[in-house]
This record gives sequence, structure tokens and C-alpha cells, in this order.
Amino acid sequence: MYDSYNRKIQYLRVSVTDRCNFRCAYCMPAQGVKMLSHDEILSYEEFLRIIRILSNHGVKKIRLTGGEPLVRKGIIPFIRDIAALQAITDISMTTNGSLLAAMAEKLKAAGLTRVNISLDTINPKQFRQITRGGDLAQTLQGIEAALAVGLTPVKLNIVLTNMITEQDIAYFVDFIHREPVSVRFIEYMPIGESATGPGPSIEEIKTMINSFGRGKLKPTIDICGNGPAKYYDLPQAKGSFGFITPISEHFCGVCNRIRLTADGKFKPCLLSNQEIDVKTALRNGASDDKIAELFYQTIAKKPQGHTLTNPDEPTQFFRRMSQIGG
Ligand code: SAM
Ligand code: SF4
Repeated sequence: MYDSYNRKIQYLRVSVTDRCNFRCAYCMPAQGVKMLSHDEILSYEEFLRIIRILSNHGVKKIRLTGGEPLVRKGIIPFIRDIAALQAITDISMTTNGSLLAAMAEKLKAAGLTRVNISLDTINPKQFRQITRGGDLAQTLQGIEAALAVGLTPVKLNIVLTNMITEQDIAYFVDFIHREPVSVRFIEYMPIGESATGPGPSIEEIKTMINSFGRGKLKPTIDICGNGPAKYYDLPQAKGSFGFITPISEHFCGVCNRIRLTADGKFKPCLLSNQEIDVKTALRNGASDDKIAELFYQTIAKKPQGHTLTNPDEPTQFFRRMSQIGG
């Protein structure tokens, strides 16, 4: 299925919960956000029905996100049910990694293909500060477990904030020499307020990476996922670096995804307030064709590009990132 701008839509991002055991300073306010009630959130059966229908209309790839997807009970059988759908070829997850160590093996066995793990700094104190209480050691154990059980390629997500230091970059340079991971730096997107200050630019990060005497960054081909990151490697590294630039060089032209929020709304674009209510239709007995029609309506509404950097079009977002599913 192609949208109005000839982008092939075959990727659904599913936010299975708005709840999270962290309160990252750029994602949520310190007191958290008003949580959805049990009834407001789609059941796994409801998610599965939508995914099954969409898989008959070109969706091949599913990413589970949140909030923190691993805090929702029953995630493993849910993954097993998605994996049983013939048309689905890739099931990935974005997680903060804190609960991953104990679950990695079962997630893999259920059919999860790979994980992206958020790791904004490797300084335990800064990590606790940025996540407002998170334990770095648990996330590092989660990364190790993901590598050990083969939830690969493992990708790390680092949002650029003022917490990132040269020590972090040195660690990541060393890490991609030791492990076949992809370390991706992501520009902060102003969705609601952030309690962190602006971080270094992508160019500054590249300059730092090049300064460690391990060779110079060289562009390389995309690794599994075909996402928006531009990848680079270093001469002797097993892994790579990725740079995701929604602000300085947006990639809307290759955006191939639709989102489904935990409370049952299709979103054509992360950075737009447009939503299409699928939950009400689902709970009022809509046919599979009707659900598919709502999906096509969502695709038709996919904007050509976001307007975050256009000063004439200020956007007030209704939801924080944890409520959309980043
Ligand atoms: N809890 C999981 C996690 O942290 O990986 C999944 C949900 S989280 C909303 C998904 C991704 O969005 C994370 O990598 C997080 O760092 C990123 N994110 C959250 N707020 C962001 C913002 N304002 N700008 C850029 N990335 C953001
Ligand atoms: Fe939770 Fe992920 Fe948001 Fe951090 S970025 S508060 S871990 S949802």
C-alpha cells in the first residue's frame, strides 16, 4: 500500500502501554502523565485483531513500544501470537532495557526478532538523573542478555541532551569495537517540555568520535530495519554508529510507518496531532473491512513532512512521547 507521496507503508508501531518504570527527563514530566485506565487501553486480543487485519493489507513489520513495553503483563504470549501470523516477517521492540535481562530468552523464543535499547549515558549518576531513578547496571545487563540470546542486530538509542559527555562517546567507540551493536544518536524532538538542556549537535558527536584515534567515520550501508538512521563505521569496529536527524535533516520522505496508540488510535505521523479512532469501531462490532478502511484513511492522512522546524506553524502536541509510542 502506497500513501499519497508514494511511500510504501508496511510498518506498524504499536504502543502496548502508556506506563513506564522510568520518567526520562525529555519524555515525561517528573510527576508522570495521567495514566490511562485499564478499560481505555486495548486488550492484547484487540491489538492482535488489528495486526492480523493489517497484515492482510501489506503490513509486514511490527515494532512494540510504549511507555515501557516490558512492564505490561502478558507481552510474551502476545509476541507469540503475532509471530504466528504468516505475513509478519519482523517483530522488534524499543525498550529501556531495565527488565530485559530476565526476559530476553523467553522473548526470543516467542518470536521477537530484535531490540532497540535506550541508553542515554553510561555514567550511573547521570543515568539515574536523566531517567529519574533508573539503574544503569540493569540496562547494561539487558543489553548483554539481548546480545547473548541473539535479539540482533541490537541497536542502542541515545537522545542527545546536555547529559552526554566525552566519556560516554569514548565508551561507545570502544563498545562498537567489542560488540556488533549499532549505537544511534537521536536529535531531541520538542514534544512537550524537557527537563534536560540542549545536547551537542550530530556534527559535534562525529568530531568527537573521530578524535579518539580509532580511525575516521565512513558512511556504510543501512543495517536491518531500513529506518531513518544514516550509518557509519570505523575501520576495525564490529558495530556501527547511526545518526537520526528529525530536526536538522528530516527523513519524512522515507517514512514508512503508521502508529497505533495504547488507547486505540491510529496516528499517521509521530509529529502530528491527527488521530483516527479504531478502538470505538472495534468495540462497536466493526467488520474486518471497516478496520482496514480506517487504516487506509490513516495512510491517506499521512502528511508529506512534519512542520516542527517551520516557525509559521507552531505545533502544540496533545500527547507526550510516552503516550504516543516513540
Ligand atoms: N520505554 C521505551 C524506551 O525508552 O526505549 C520505549 C518508548 S520511548 C518513548 C521510545 C524512544 O523514544 C526512546 O528511545 C526514547 O529515548 C525516545 N524519545 C522519547 N522522547 C523523545 C524526544 N523528545 N525526542 C527524541 N526521542 C525521544
Ligand atoms: Fe519511559 Fe522510554 Fe519515556 Fe524513558 S523514554 S520515560 S523509558 S517511555
